[in-house]
Amino acid sequence: MSSNIIKPIKVSVKSKSDLQDDAYDAISKSGESGIFQTELCKVFSLDSRDGSRLVGNLEKQSLISREKILYKGRWTYKLVLRKSSASIDSVKKPVEVTCVEGAPCFSCTYQHLCSSDDDTSQYSPARCTWIEEWVLTSFGHAMDTQNS
Ligand code: SF4
Repeated sequence: MSSNIIKPIKVSVKSKSDLQDDAYDAISKSGESGIFQTELCKVFSLDSRDGSRLVGNLEKQSLISREKILYKGRWTYKLVLRKSSASIDSVKKPVEVTCVEGAPCFSCTYQHLCSSDDDTSQYSPARCTWIEEWVLTSFGHAMDTQNS
C-alpha cells in the first residue's frame, strides 16, 4: 500500500470534559435567562444527539436544569444553571491546610504519573505505601495529642 493513500487527518484534541466545562461556562454566562439547547449545539458545532448527551451529563451532575420549550416553532430545551451549583462557584471557602501538612504527594516525583482513575498506572493513592505510611503516622500523632 502506498503511503500517498493515507493522508493525515486533523482531529480536535478537545476532551469530553473540556467540552463539558466550556458548555457549563456558556450556560453560566447566559445568566438567569438561560440558553437554548439548539444555540448551545451551534456554538460547539454539535449535532442534536451529541448536544443532548452533553447536556444530559451536566443535568445528571445537577449542574444545570432544562425546561422543554417551543422556540422558533421547534421543541428544544432552555438550559439554566442550577442555583446550588452557581452558589458553589461563588462561595469561597477557607482552605484548611494543617490536615495535609507533610503529605508526601506535594514533593512526590511521580505525582504527574499518579492517578486514582487509571487502573493501569503504577502510581495511585490506593496502592501508595508512602501515603499509607504518612496517614498512619499522622493518625498516630493525632491520637497521641488527643490522649495527652
Ligand atoms: S499517592 Fe503516592 S505516588 Fe501518588 S503522588 Fe502521592 S506520594 Fe506520589
